[in-house]
Amino acid sequence: MKTYLDFASTTPMAPEVIEEMHAVMSEDSFGNPSSLDHQFGISANNIVEQSRNEVANLINANPEEILWTSGATESNNLAIVGFHQFQYKGHPLRFTTSHLEHKSVIESMRSIEELESKVSFIQPNKDGQIDLETFTSQLNPDAIFASCMHINNETGVVNEIKEIGKYCKKNEIIFHVDAAQSIGKIPIDVKEMCIDLMSMSAHKVYGPKGVGALYINKDSVGRVKSLIVGGGQERGMRSGTLPTHQIAGMASAYRVSKQRMHDDLEHIQQCRDAFLKKLSSLNGWKINGSVEDAFPGILSLCFHDLYSESLIYAMEGFAISRGSACSSDHDEPSHVLKSMGLLDHEINGTIRISFGRTTSLHDTESAASELIAAVTHLRNLKGDSQ
Ligand code: PMP
Repeated sequence: MKTYLDFASTTPMAPEVIEEMHAVMSEDSFGNPSSLDHQFGISANNIVEQSRNEVANLINANPEEILWTSGATESNNLAIVGFHQFQYKGHPLRFTTSHLEHKSVIESMRSIEELESKVSFIQPNKDGQIDLETFTSQLNPDAIFASCMHINNETGVVNEIKEIGKYCKKNEIIFHVDAAQSIGKIPIDVKEMCIDLMSMSAHKVYGPKGVGALYINKDSVGRVKSLIVGGGQERGMRSGTLPTHQIAGMASAYRVSKQRMHDDLEHIQQCRDAFLKKLSSLNGWKINGSVEDAFPGILSLCFHDLYSESLIYAMEGFAISRGSACSSDHDEPSHVLKSMGLLDHEINGTIRISFGRTTSLHDTESAASELIAAVTHLRNLKGDSQ
């Protein structure tokens, strides 16, 4: 079995989470959380509401501002398309976002363009970051909505969310943040950061797949128009029977992450430093994006003279990836790296290595050694064939 170094794509579930989900599935809380006529439903409902409290607690929100979804993809769709549909009165609206965003944000924006609303895309700075200056200098003055991710899933670069949030609040722009990669890993306070809508996922922080949430600031946004209609659950904004065990798993993952955030971050930082120290003996590579303003768990490494597929294949002992898991089964070059100005051969030679809670220092050092050996071997082969 390979050693897993693809934590940005997903994480293994924490033992505490599995235990808690198992207990919920085994107890008499299998009832429908909306069936409040009997104890089975009431018990499930209690778990759902307790979990809502815990998710709200992690980001300094009120529980009634948390809406359950199937993950950050759905949350991004609901924030952008649902907000647009709620506001749209037949006149085109102006939205803004960045070229760094996840496809679920970009495609949601594309879908509102079909209704003739206008979307402008902000180009990141040379470090792959949206800082306040970059944001304000490219912002369209008519924009009523801005969407900017917190941590980029391909490079780990952290955007200046608090500064952008304050600017948006001052200028009455609704501010949406895709926090799929940051929630539970670095601190988030939606009030302090002036966030109006925020997308969350469970499986990037050792929780189950298929569950997430959308934070909706009740004072500024209030409501979004449902994209899934039916029984009117989640105050009419997202219909469907709630998956009690998934929700309990997400809350458990968030609770554990809150307790461990400081230690996890320190450990991941040590892993990255050890990895980079070892790799420094190798020539002909660079890190894509800022190192200072990045979450240390994600490294985007460019070997401009090699192909990422060959490197991934040659790294026999480690599970690493080309970039975003959501686009690595398509053959298009990464839109994120492209927007950062990387040339095609640099994008084609980029791999992503991501560390997590269960990565050991020994793993990171072995991975660096294996990468050095793989690069040297591939370069020798290239040299021979020239
Ligand atoms: N946004 C970002 C930044 C992501 O990294 C991902 C997962 N790759 C998503 C959204 C989608 O999250 P989910 O898998 O929960 O739908």
